[in-house]
Amino acid sequence: MLIDHQHQLEDYCKKWRASGQPLSFDTEFVSDKRYFPLLCLVQVGVGDQKLEAAIDPFKVDLKPLLEMIADPAIEKIVHAGSSDLQILYTQFNCAAQNVFDTQIAAAFLGYGQQIGYTDLVQRSIDGPQLSKDWQFSDWTARPLSALQLEYALCDVRFLPAIKEKLEKELKAKSRLDWAKTEFARAEEKSTESTPPEELYRRLKLSKMNRRQLGRLRELAIVRDEVARQQNRPVPYIVNDNALLQLAKISAQNIQELREIRGMPPLPTKLAQAFVDAAKRGDAIPEDQLPTLWKDTKPDPEVDNIANLLGTVTQIVAQETGIARTYLAPKDELFALARWWVESATAPDENPPDDMILMQDWRGELLGETLLKFLRGEAAVSCDFAERRLVMK
Ligand SMILES: [Zn+2]
Repeated sequence: MLIDHQHQLEDYCKKWRASGQPLSFDTEFVSDKRYFPLLCLVQVGVGDQKLEAAIDPFKVDLKPLLEMIADPAIEKIVHAGSSDLQILYTQFNCAAQNVFDTQIAAAFLGYGQQIGYTDLVQRSIDGPQLSKDWQFSDWTARPLSALQLEYALCDVRFLPAIKEKLEKELKAKSRLDWAKTEFARAEEKSTESTPPEELYRRLKLSKMNRRQLGRLRELAIVRDEVARQQNRPVPYIVNDNALLQLAKISAQNIQELREIRGMPPLPTKLAQAFVDAAKRGDAIPEDQLPTLWKDTKPDPEVDNIANLLGTVTQIVAQETGIARTYLAPKDELFALARWWVESATAPDENPPDDMILMQDWRGELLGETLLKFLRGEAAVSCDFAERRLVMK
């Protein structure tokens, strides 16, 4: 079913609500050559194939559906929904609530950190082998072919069954609350964006002094504004290398700006905007210039400890079936190791609360073990009989 009239969407929303079932949804979009991805299709299901539908957002105002997505009383099901949620938020100001993400749930059940939908359909509910041939089809085309629509609808068809299965398994392992913490985190993350004055931090900042960082900060703000206005990807305006170069030399006029290697032939007004931004960077008072976040020297002891914490994490990952990188991102292990080497003063002192490894389910499952290990109360050892590493 393709919904391309407003009244159809209103009808369907009523039926979906009346079903009392969680709402499964997925989106197809195109982000090529754009600042804002273009939403091309929204697929919705409630576990009954007769009520499945794909909505054409070119023709229909999604409002009644968005209300359901934002309604905390209606459960939603998605698979790897972060980009879907983000589009709904940035383009419609719709913050999804009460979302069960089957990819996140699967990560708590031994399916690996980022299992794909087609694999999960097979592995979790023994469903059919879905074709991946349509993944790269042109979703901006109209009319969409019957096959395209069928493929798109398959993306929501199996979500209710998968969710039911995974939820049962999570409950059986007492991990549903852990997964819910991550669902909520994902919802929150979809509504966050980098503040303009932090954008420059995504660039390659090594070997830049504070003045250059200051200029770069101003330049990155302007570049993002222009990209947004023109709805083009940021590097299409001025590429990263040219922007870094401009931050390093600080062009004082358009002529100097144009001499920078890789600088595109910007219209005069734009070129002036970048020159002005560089000058704003020049004018930042010395004590207000940015510094690099991680101005930390490499420390072999920190590296050693972090590696060992990685081994402990690996053991916990094997015991629990939760992917290691999901349990503990590498940076977080380093942060803990650095705290222990440089800041911990008493054996029973706890790391700062903002360390992710100490929070929620991670704290319960891994953080406490890592602390015991650091305090010498637990050790990694070899189980000879089983030929594997264990914690003692
Ligand atoms: Zn899809």
